[in-house]
Amino acid sequence: MTLAGPLSSDRYFPVLKGKVALVTGAGSGIGRAGAMAMARHGAQVVVTDLDADKAAQVVKALKSEGLSAASAALDVTDDKAVAAEIDKTVKTYGQIDVLHSHAGYQIEGNLEQVPLDGMDMSWKLNVRSHFIAARAVVGHMRTQGGGSVIITSSNSGVQYDREMIAYATTKHAVVAMTRQMAADYAKDNIRFNSLCPGFIDTPFNAGFETQMGGRDKLERYVAKTIPMGRWGTTDEMADSILFLASDMSTFMTGHALVIDGGECI
Ligand code: NAP
Repeated sequence: MTLAGPLSSDRYFPVLKGKVALVTGAGSGIGRAGAMAMARHGAQVVVTDLDADKAAQVVKALKSEGLSAASAALDVTDDKAVAAEIDKTVKTYGQIDVLHSHAGYQIEGNLEQVPLDGMDMSWKLNVRSHFIAARAVVGHMRTQGGGSVIITSSNSGVQYDREMIAYATTKHAVVAMTRQMAADYAKDNIRFNSLCPGFIDTPFNAGFETQMGGRDKLERYVAKTIPMGRWGTTDEMADSILFLASDMSTFMTGHALVIDGGECI
């Protein structure tokens, strides 16, 4: 048997047929790849992003493959808009089976360096926005008999970075919050797991690239620091999203799924 590469990129099985999924921060990077993979594997996906145009481009790409999906502008720091988009999804499609609450924020700096508004924004995006989205979805999922909530943390949620206090602290907090929600809602068959990526080559790392002193230095850092010696791909992340979203992981809840080429070891 040969390995044919990520499941999400070239082999499609209807593991999410009949399911409805909503993804935040899905106009780019990991959220985009996960949303596209879920649609390709059978789900009706609502692709949301801060930038309406980026979300619409993802839907356009899916439509060019003959798949149906919907897009919406959604700022995850807008509590009312998040709840309204989730309610609208249920009204339109009759259910919501998967929430991938993905958008996040990174700002560098140690205790003395990080700006206070950067610390506040980290809590707002990396913890509070997931709380709000999960809160908006659980009532619907309970009524329909279950669901899967995937919350993006980071491998910085299970290990410590250097001079990234706001990021590492909030990413740890969201792993804890996800585990607590998993414990509280297991009886309702609502699963909560956190996704903990390592270095995935997306625009999200632009700030870290600057902090490192440019692309070449970042490439050398990745080659040296990651045991597998490379970046992860968004398709590799999408495979884990498919696993957590679908019935391939029905007995898994409260888990922090680390996909980082061994960085945490
Ligand atoms: P990305 O390619 O930059 O995509 C993130 C998307 O979220 C962008 O389209 C961004 O829009 C959008 N967004 C930003 N603020 C938002 C808001 N308030 N409401 C809704 N959408 C918003 O990044 P990514 O690689 O997918 O990473 C994003 C998430 O993965 C974060 O939670 C991050 O902590 C986590 N993560 C990433 C890595 C990695 O190496 N890439 C590693 C660990 C964890 P704009 O571009 O307009 O801001």
